[in-house]
Amino acid sequence: CSGGGLLMYSDSSPSKRTLTADGQEIKKKKVVVLGSGWSGYSFLSHFNNPNYDVQVVSPRNFFLFTPLLPSVTNGTVEARSIVEPIRGLMRKKGFEYTEAECVKIDPSNKKIHCKSKDSTSLKGTTEFDMDYDILVIAVGAKPNTFNTPGVEEHAHFLKEADDALKIRRSVINCFERASLPDLTEEERKKILHFVVVGGGPTGVEFSAELHDFLVEDVAKIYPKVQEFTRITLLEAGDHILNMFDKRITAFAEEKFQRDGIDLKTKSMVVGVTADEISTKERGSGEVVSEPYGMVVWSTGIGSRPVIKDFMQQIGQGQRRVLATDEWLRVEGCDSVYALGDTATINQRRVMEDIAAIFGKADKGETGTLNKKEFKSVVKDICQRYPQVELYLKKKKLRNIANLLKSANGDNTELSIETFKQALSEVDTQMKNLPATAQVASQQGKYLAKCFNKMEKCENKPEGPLRFRGEGRHRFQPFRYRHFGSFAPLGGEQTAAELPGDWVSIGHSSQWLWYSVYASKLVSWRTRSLVVSDWVRRFIFGRDSSS
Ligand code: FAD
Ligand code: MG
Ligand code: MG
Ligand code: MG
Ligand code: MG
Repeated sequence: CSGGGLLMYSDSSPSKRTLTADGQEIKKKKVVVLGSGWSGYSFLSHFNNPNYDVQVVSPRNFFLFTPLLPSVTNGTVEARSIVEPIRGLMRKKGFEYTEAECVKIDPSNKKIHCKSKDSTSLKGTTEFDMDYDILVIAVGAKPNTFNTPGVEEHAHFLKEADDALKIRRSVINCFERASLPDLTEEERKKILHFVVVGGGPTGVEFSAELHDFLVEDVAKIYPKVQEFTRITLLEAGDHILNMFDKRITAFAEEKFQRDGIDLKTKSMVVGVTADEISTKERGSGEVVSEPYGMVVWSTGIGSRPVIKDFMQQIGQGQRRVLATDEWLRVEGCDSVYALGDTATINQRRVMEDIAAIFGKADKGETGTLNKKEFKSVVKDICQRYPQVELYLKKKKLRNIANLLKSANGDNTELSIETFKQALSEVDTQMKNLPATAQVASQQGKYLAKCFNKMEKCENKPEGPLRFRGEGRHRFQPFRYRHFGSFAPLGGEQTAAELPGDWVSIGHSSQWLWYSVYASKLVSWRTRSLVVSDWVRRFIFGRDSSS
């Protein structure tokens, strides 16, 4: 908006003061949380420490249950059923909320600069600064276009509730336009050509939802133009769903073939114009352009501008994603935490720390580890380095003690050389955590729990991690627990990949998916709204008004 004036004011009271029983003033630290998505909302709902003032800044005054967002695009679920206003939580917890976007982080002055847009009138923007003692960055990420020309202008993204509603209106609009009289067959075909870019879970699920909509509803509503519809799914890699088990990929690809979804792998989009989308085939290098009616872009995520700028300031300019340590503390910056899609944990290698680990464990400084020292170091290593667990799983070993024992034979003392050798391959299993709601919400909960026990830990600073020196780390590092992944494939079928190499595809997993997500929805209100949307859709079909 350019209509209104610019208002500047400064909120320069970083911390509120409260009085204790004997009349003494104590200064509460001010925690500013940026974002109200999976990680932010989870942090706020688990945060329970009255010694902090919590202030939330987010341009969105609600939490959005993203796993059901693709179902909003075709009206299976209503948008308002999957949003949870955050004002309720704020009131319950005594937190404060400001509807604004953080546009600049100033870590040297412990300040953020914010902009608040009035989207319902032309009053314009308000800008203000806010101080913090502790900053929690949970702003998520933005869709990544890889700078492909024309994508920003012509393609739809599927990230926010508004995006899903826009897509829904656009799909129905395409059908209305294609139903106009006096169009050629070619024109109708163009308008009803739906292109999805990106064969990850979101792109696949959206294609499946769109296909269901076309088969189950559009055939009845727009019988005359139904024959002209086509869905194309473009993927630059060799396969769709490449992060899933091979069996799931194969099943999904076959199902899409049967359904008549035009799946084109090894096709990289090089440009989008108002009428055409151009792809370059890997291998032949041939560029093909095809007319389309609507494009949905879903190829992954990138850092938000405010985060890129922040990374420059703290010496992370060379990195692609903001890095934290395993305690979710931003590297190179004090009092700032980052979680969810916006950040990635910079994991330590066991080999980097091996001499220090050994030294700390070797209490008697004998140069070798005895049985007792050995046992306690095993526990610490497993706790500290998640790659160890993955490595043991891969080697089909029960625990690290067996691994070390097998390297050490009958000796009762373990030397540093044997120790190193036994652990030398462990780091090959290091993996970045995926950008998922599961990771984001677990990180939010983890960090809130750290804050909840802050005082206790400050009084007992030695903590569980003896070998990483300083006594500074009083908390367990963050550890992710994977509960499985789901890939809804349309036609009431869902592929599920559960821990323990368990793969299940079909109607039963569709119901598993329903119940898992219904139970994960944040409130009984949203839960009942979603379930009633599902029931309504089973009975009456989807709503097709735009
Ligand atoms: P978000 O949830 O995106 O939250 C970011 C918050 O920050 C928002 O409230 C936003 O308004 C706010 N914000 C943005 N910019 C600023 C700013 N400058 N200042 C202040 N606040 C700001 N994951 C799964 O595990 N399972 C699934 O089935 C699944 N399905 C998905 C389907 C879709 C369509 C999409 C888009 C994602 C899906 N995901 C799924 C991924 C999951 O949604 C993300 O990993 C998760 O949302 C990340 O949480 P977050 O808190 O980092 O970011
Ligand atoms: Mg968030
Ligand atoms: Mg969210
Ligand atoms: Mg992350
Ligand atoms: Mg992270």
